[in-house]
Amino acid sequence: MPFTVLSAEFAHETNTFSKVPTGYAHFMARSRCLPGDEAIAARGHANTELAGFLDAARTHGWRLIHVLSASANPGGPVTQDAFERLAGPIVDAAQRHRHDIHGIALGLHGAMVTTQFDDGEGELLRRVRAVVGPDLPIAITLDLHANVTAAMCALANIIVSYRTYPHTDMRRTGLQAGTLLQRAMAGEIRPQTLRANLPMLGETTGGRTDRGPMLQWLARSRAYEEQEPEVFAVSLNAGFSHADIAEVGPSVLVTCQGEIARHQAFADAIADAMWAARFEQLTNYLSVDAAAQRGVAWPAGRGPLVVADYSDNPGGGAYGDSTTLLAAMLKAGVTEACFGPMVDPAVAQQLQQRAVGDVVDIELGGKTDPRFGGGPLALRARVLWRGDGSYTGDGPMIGGQQRSWGLTAVVQVDGVQILVVTNAAQMWDLQQFKTFGIDPQSRRVVALKSAQHFRAAFEPIAGEVIVCDSGALCAPDCTVLPYRKVPRPIFPLDHGIDLQAWRAGRGLHRP
Ligand SMILES: [Zn+2]
Repeated sequence: MPFTVLSAEFAHETNTFSKVPTGYAHFMARSRCLPGDEAIAARGHANTELAGFLDAARTHGWRLIHVLSASANPGGPVTQDAFERLAGPIVDAAQRHRHDIHGIALGLHGAMVTTQFDDGEGELLRRVRAVVGPDLPIAITLDLHANVTAAMCALANIIVSYRTYPHTDMRRTGLQAGTLLQRAMAGEIRPQTLRANLPMLGETTGGRTDRGPMLQWLARSRAYEEQEPEVFAVSLNAGFSHADIAEVGPSVLVTCQGEIARHQAFADAIADAMWAARFEQLTNYLSVDAAAQRGVAWPAGRGPLVVADYSDNPGGGAYGDSTTLLAAMLKAGVTEACFGPMVDPAVAQQLQQRAVGDVVDIELGGKTDPRFGGGPLALRARVLWRGDGSYTGDGPMIGGQQRSWGLTAVVQVDGVQILVVTNAAQMWDLQQFKTFGIDPQSRRVVALKSAQHFRAAFEPIAGEVIVCDSGALCAPDCTVLPYRKVPRPIFPLDHGIDLQAWRAGRGLHRP
């Protein structure tokens, strides 16, 4: 008899320091909250967890009941209203189908904080478990930037996380989780997930999987997964440091059965290596002035100098309206350049009334919280483009998926073309510029807001990539943020922590 599986995707990465709460409208915007069939049509063939679940469903002949797919751009805490309206249908469906489903597959992020619950995923899983009981297999997928809690490990049997940053293995992750779910539903395996965590905020070695020690840890994890017949998945989570919650930071997960103590020791050993590498910095963060000077000097004909603003990354919950890098570029006289996005709904709206070619005085950016990344810039700008900001990605991360900046405009200020948008999102696909008449490949300097994901689409066209710190909310030095709820001691807020003593005394929450 083929199995019936209930699935859903519900994801948010919450920056608890953001002043902008993430409401239901943020999930509804940009077609990122879709009911079952629409979600399958929009995401079922793309690089998504859902596509991976569907791959497993086809292979094993499942009847898949997909409830919904919902995600919002990273931002402040998810409002309780939004959480209830999105978790509600998932729990209701589990209740309704509890007698005819054999398993549940959920595509989650792992760093969701709501206004009421510090562990959004743990709360969702608690509610689902309450209706389906303790024995139904539940498989979940997580982002590499998950802050994995003891509750998630205790409530889900199977956890599989992305292995790449830039994240390019969503579908693979969904398929691995689905394949393990099949084996659990068939009674072939009875997996549980072990966790080793650390007294640190994350993200370990910047989370980078394109270079540095993470590559070696991933290789060790793959080898362990392959050589141990009772180890089904080893996941390394870099953590998400911009969350002021009790269970924050990197973790190693082993989904397994059998010799639990030995598998826990393996997880601890990888966690030890992460701890030993805690001072390692793989990225050189330039000042905005130094970055602008590099832009002035960069020769034409070598492919663009790509300047990433690490700190104002809307993909980590920063506001996307920091102005310090743009100001430095204009002051230094960088030409043949583009810059994006500048998240400024008021200016994007204002420019809709103007014709292409008009010259307009604008007060651009810096409005959400000028303490993080500078205040508004008074600029005289020429309108190059304005209209609806919908685009379809064509890169490795969001290829084939439709997204929207909301109302959008492109203006020219001196030598810089500036993309002004309504909805915050990071720059991770060339179509986010190209659709609006900016050709990044033909620019001498491309300035963009993203910490690491931009590399997937922009490294192939770049002459060189440099990274700078604009002082915005996701600045690499998180010790300046007002943490109150994280457990102390914690690195890098505290130093001189004895890991073995910490482990002996606390923090090992084995399910
Ligand atoms: Zn991530």
